[in-house]
Amino acid sequence: MNSFPISFRLKNRPVVIVGGGDSALQKARLAVAAGASLTVIWPRIDQALHEELADRAALIECTPARADFDKAALVFVAIEDEFEAARLARDAKSAGALVNVVDRPALCDFTTPSIVDRGRLTVAISTGGAGPVFAKSLREKIEALIPARADALLAFADSYRETVKSRVPHENRRRFWEDVFGGPVAAAALAGDDSGAHDLMAGALDRAQSATREGVVHIVGAGPGDPELLTLKALRLLQSADVILYDRLVSDEILALARRDADRLYVGKAKADHAVPQDEIETRMIALAREGKTVVRLKGGDPFVFGRGGEELDALQAAGVKAHVTPGVTAATGCAAATGMALTHRDHAQAVTFVTGHARGDADPDLDWEALANLKNTLVVYMGVGKADAIAHRLMEHGRDRATPVAVVENGTRENQIIVKGALEDLGALVRDGGIKGPALLVIGDVAQFASGAGLIELSQLQRSAA
Ligand code: SAH
Repeated sequence: MNSFPISFRLKNRPVVIVGGGDSALQKARLAVAAGASLTVIWPRIDQALHEELADRAALIECTPARADFDKAALVFVAIEDEFEAARLARDAKSAGALVNVVDRPALCDFTTPSIVDRGRLTVAISTGGAGPVFAKSLREKIEALIPARADALLAFADSYRETVKSRVPHENRRRFWEDVFGGPVAAAALAGDDSGAHDLMAGALDRAQSATREGVVHIVGAGPGDPELLTLKALRLLQSADVILYDRLVSDEILALARRDADRLYVGKAKADHAVPQDEIETRMIALAREGKTVVRLKGGDPFVFGRGGEELDALQAAGVKAHVTPGVTAATGCAAATGMALTHRDHAQAVTFVTGHARGDADPDLDWEALANLKNTLVVYMGVGKADAIAHRLMEHGRDRATPVAVVENGTRENQIIVKGALEDLGALVRDGGIKGPALLVIGDVAQFASGAGLIELSQLQRSAA
């Protein structure tokens, strides 16, 4: 964060604008809208300012002196001459004001963000001066998201603040307001049905006093890493969670989308370092739900594809805890899309099979090699990096062609994605020479020849680095 956003109360506070042209007028409009007591001062003040501000600001046509800045909360310097602007900024700062020099970020104590102004509701977007046009385009999108009567809804909510404080116990209050803003009360207020909204609110207040809240666990798939691959439902649940239990494979960008004051518990899950044993994860989720919490169990990819989501669901149901599952984009389809490799391309594969290459210690994965080798379709191996040699060897031993195309995709859909590809007989070497440490998928079958895109390492580069 390059600068710290705050909402500053300017009502009746002195603000000084130095300048008499267009950009002075723009700042003046903001200051007037915020209720500031405004002085515009400069030897030549345009007619447009006189017309628009005549009865709302003091307009003084002279060169400002240091004393003009005394007591000013904010000073805007909106003039062309850079040298003069720097001098006036110094004067204003020495008088104790915070200073903004238009178009000269280096001289500014503060900058003015792009603003969505809907009465009580304001949204400020700042790019630290790096991309004001981008900020404007975001502002347009945010404008479109905000209901027309948002300010009326806020006025309605504000009128109940004290009542809610006295009638809804502290620990239920956030939930109460979430239900108000996300439910029929807000719908009525936004539709302009004030009396309906008041009736619904009265009912909600009556219920809130008696009800104890039932906890719930959502087992949610976070997808392979790219936050844009989250489902809308996953995003909504992340933003309503009290507690989030997350795995190693969940990316930081995704966690950053969660409700800011949700507790986050890392429960690990690297192969060799189960930060928290599985049964303890389950026990914790059950205990949290019984406390009435909304728990999100956030897992990489899809919870039901090699994710132990099934075991967790069983445990929750056995304990009588309400549980729901939200699917995610699994690594295979995420990596396929990111590398342009259609898993069931009609000319190359009739089916796709997902298997796990996970095995205890030195053992080979316990799979039906004969069946897999004879499928001649697309085979996707999860958790297979450490066993790549053995997997290739077993498949060839059972008749799969040694020239079958293979692709290894590491960190698929993420910024650090890597793709290496070659033939089945070289699978182990590809993993080694490509420096693949996972998370990575092994894709075996004709469609693997099409893998391309970000992070593709050519074979010649591999041989060079291995030499
Ligand atoms: N439930 C997850 C899989 C968990 S098993 C899912 O549906 O995707 C963990 C394995 O998933 C890793 O060892 C790796 O094989 C694969 N994996 C997860 N994320 C990946 C990614 N971004 N790129 C490549 N493989 C990934």
